[in-house]
Amino acid sequence: MTLQKRYLATPHDIRAIRLTCKCGTSLSFIPAEKTNFPDKCHNCHASWFLENDLTQAVLDQVILGLGALRKRSEAVTCKIEFEFDQPE
Ligand SMILES: [Zn+2]
Repeated sequence: MTLQKRYLATPHDIRAIRLTCKCGTSLSFIPAEKTNFPDKCHNCHASWFLENDLTQAVLDQVILGLGALRKRSEAVTCKIEFEFDQPE
């Protein structure tokens, strides 16, 4: 038998989504805000997403989704949590 520690987080526990460029510059996006992720780094201007890559659109949906999950009432429905493995 293998024991594994797991961690649970609610949508309120996720403070932000952070993008870090290869140059070390990072930006954090708070879930409650409606925002579009930038295409490139504001410091070195490197592209953050590949052409025809859906990552940017997916990130927009994730951040909007987290904002929506924070607003829903768990009192009348179910509790939603994200499960993580133990950090190494
Ligand atoms: Zn950069």
